[in-house]
Amino acid sequence: MVYFLMQRKKKENCISQFIGEKMKTFLLKNAMLYRKHKFDYCDIYVEDGVIKSISKDIDKDVKTIDLRGQLVSHNFIDMHTHLREPGFEHKETIATGTEAALYGGYGTVVAMANTLPCMDNQETIDDFNSRVQKDAKVNVYTYSAITKGLKGVELVDMEHIVDNAIVLGFSDDGKGVQNDEMMELAMQLASNIDSIIVAHCEDESELHGGCIHDGKYAKEHGLVGINNASEFKQVARDLDIVKVYKNRYHVCHISTKETVELLRQAKKDGLRVSGEAAPHHLILTDENIQDCHPNYKMNPPLRSKEDHDALIKGLNDHTITVIATDHAPHSREEKNRPLDLSPFGIIGIQHAFCLMYTYLVKKDLVKLETILDALTVGPAKVLRLDASIEVGKTANLCVFDLDEKFVVKEEDIKSKSVNTPFIDVECYGKIKANIINGELNILEEL
Ligand SMILES: [Zn+2]
Repeated sequence: MVYFLMQRKKKENCISQFIGEKMKTFLLKNAMLYRKHKFDYCDIYVEDGVIKSISKDIDKDVKTIDLRGQLVSHNFIDMHTHLREPGFEHKETIATGTEAALYGGYGTVVAMANTLPCMDNQETIDDFNSRVQKDAKVNVYTYSAITKGLKGVELVDMEHIVDNAIVLGFSDDGKGVQNDEMMELAMQLASNIDSIIVAHCEDESELHGGCIHDGKYAKEHGLVGINNASEFKQVARDLDIVKVYKNRYHVCHISTKETVELLRQAKKDGLRVSGEAAPHHLILTDENIQDCHPNYKMNPPLRSKEDHDALIKGLNDHTITVIATDHAPHSREEKNRPLDLSPFGIIGIQHAFCLMYTYLVKKDLVKLETILDALTVGPAKVLRLDASIEVGKTANLCVFDLDEKFVVKEEDIKSKSVNTPFIDVECYGKIKANIINGELNILEEL
């Protein structure tokens, strides 16, 4: 017994020396591996970045880490990230945004096109790609805008832009495409080139300068509200177009019960549609807003309890198969303005998993398997990426300590911005290591 303790102590000392070191050949002992909707207690041997074996009792004379039953899954895919570069480097850069993603357990992010210049042409996308090659800590893809400058007036050259390997689809995120004919043309072209429209649905005729949900909190504080129709009316319009062109279509940041129902029906009708929910909409409602603080202001807004219940139900019955962060950094100065004048959006990529593990899984609202699927195989399926864990494949894995309790602290945030309502919130489920394209990044002592 004494010998065992000494040996274990020695191992822990050894592992702490690995922090920051990058390895491509290593053995993970005693992992609780999640894949194919099942948990399995096993060892994982990675050689030169490739998974060579997954089985019990592997012995190799390589760097060995005893995980003592800690959870291992595929690392996450965020199909909705605002990296802000080029143009808004005071909010976030590719380097800082992907560092936050790395610490959040993400292996892949898809950047939104609302940069400056806008990601609506080959040249800007090529420039973005070269910045990614230089600075990114995780795999990065992007969407092209649907319309030039997100103005909703002229379509981008979809047929040529789609050939760029870094482009996974088309999105005017930040704005809804208001013109029906424009959206119809985009969907028709998307169908022709077998690409996907990733839609921020927002009918501007339903907006009246609102900044939070048109509910109890808005009424009590004399604020203009954003109604549910501003979202679901445009979702309904888009789904009618999808019925005609049978194109791939994805709804961003679903926030209303009506949208969940529309998506449920569209899936029943056999359309190639999908939808995502953001962690903040899955955890908070407008009743959680405190002191009219701009860190509770995002678009779409935190909705009612009924909308929240519908999102949870939609996630549990697989109407919603993707959890995407809508990570939207803004500087301290921008977010320090009064609620009605501050920009929409909060950061979220670094703490998405631990917040959902703490406030959804531990509270028995959603199963851990459902959360993990919606962060890995769910987005992979929508974007045609691979999130499987198999012998012979490059290792893209994440190691978690589900029992480790910690508090979200501003000084620990890797993003350039700190606009989140979750500062000082207690969490479980710390990300300990993230294996990106076969390379082990130990983030914390295991
Ligand atoms: Zn959006």
